[in-house]
This record gives sequence, C-alpha cells and structure tokens, in this order.
Amino acid sequence: MSLAHLVIFGRPGSGKSSLAERLGADFGYRLIRTGELLREAVRRQDSLGRQVESQLKAGQLVPDDLIGTLLETNLVAGNQERLIFDGFPRTLGQVAILERIEERCQLSIDAYVDIHLSLELAARRMTGRRVCPKCAATYHLINRPPRVAERCDHDGIMLISRTDDSAEVVAIRQQIYEQHSGPLLAHYRQTMGAKFQEIDGSGTFAEVYQSLCRHLGLVG
Ligand code: ADP
Repeated sequence: MSLAHLVIFGRPGSGKSSLAERLGADFGYRLIRTGELLREAVRRQDSLGRQVESQLKAGQLVPDDLIGTLLETNLVAGNQERLIFDGFPRTLGQVAILERIEERCQLSIDAYVDIHLSLELAARRMTGRRVCPKCAATYHLINRPPRVAERCDHDGIMLISRTDDSAEVVAIRQQIYEQHSGPLLAHYRQTMGAKFQEIDGSGTFAEVYQSLCRHLGLVG
C-alpha cells in the first residue's frame, strides 16, 4: 500500500507533532500543521492572524470556516504528493473540509492514525516542552532534548515555550480535545475500517515512532 496521504490525531502532549516531523524527515512528507500555520499568521499579523490571535492564546478552537480558508491557501501553493495532516481535522465540521480538499486536490487519505495517551501522561509531558521560533521543530527538555541545551538542532536558535503551554491554557486545550475527539474518532473508526489505526503513545519517543512505522508498513 502506498501511504502518500496521512492524518495524525492525538491530544495535546501526545507527541503527534514530533512523530509527524520525524515521518516527514525520514519519508519525505510535507507537513500540514494547522496549529503552526495559525501561529505563523499571528506572527505575521495578517488579517487571519489578527482574527485568531485571542483564540489561540486562550486555547480555544478557531472556527471551521477559517481553518478551511487557511488550508486552501496553504495547500494549493505547495507540493501535494506526500502529505501529513497534523492537527486537522479536529471537529466533525472539519471532516467535510477534508473531503472537499480530497476532491479538489484529487487526493485520497490512505491512513488515519490516532496516537492514544491518557490525560495524566500528556499533562506531565507538556511541562518541559520547547519549540524553535524559526522552524517550529519541537523538543522536550527531558524526553527529546536538543543536542545543545536550549538551542534548536537545525538553526541554533534559542528555543522558547509556546504561549499556550501555560498550565491554565493546557487544561482548556485538553478539555476541548475531550469534547471533540470522541465523535471525530468514532466517525473515522466507523467509516474507514482498516485505514483507521490506534497506536499506544505511552512509550518513549523511539518506541512510539517504531510502532507507528510498523502499523503504517513503513520501514523506520
Ligand atoms: P495542540 O495539538 O497541542 O493543541 P496545535 O499546534 O495543533 O497544538 O494547535 C494549537 C492551537 O491552534 C489550538 O489550541 C487551536 O487554538 C488552534 N488550532 C489548530 N488546529 C486547529 C483546527 N484544526 N481547528 C481549530 N483550531 C485549531
């Protein structure tokens, strides 16, 4: 099976973005990360960025129609041959947006993977999380440290904490995840059969990555 187009689900702190990053690097996928595209828009302070800034800071979801616009602008501009959607779809409303993208771009999602992790473990992992403000690479001070302390492996730039990683906002993001993920995952579980897979995200990064590759039939 050729796995050209993937969707990766997981609660905040599940490791889904780090896993998607590594798959991208190892197998040449382009990452479509709605969270990162939104943060970039906020940094640029363009019209979308100004509209979503307060929602991002508060850990609230951005309205579905804005996510649709964001994806159309960013997807069409680049290569669509090998894609991983990370952080999208997040609501049942966004399922239809993905279907529209599949139709317009003449692509079809080959696998939907849920990285499963308990709330307790995810909350513990999120303390110590760092990101590169330039290339968005993600690190963890204990589980996935950069080669040089507090510096990005790719750019050498000083790593930062995401502004929405404060304890209060993390709690809100987890609560919102709980609200939406049940119906969303149930939908894909019911409609996608073997294309939907759940992976235990509680091991080390290397263990989870290996299991992900195995499930996808990729040699990692
Ligand atoms: P996490 O998965 O840890 O919450 P992301 O980087 O995927 O991190 O998302 C960060 C924030 O961006 C979310 O809290 C939300 O405000 C917004 N966001 C990202 N993707 C979506 C989406 N598909 N729909 C609505 N809001 C989104």
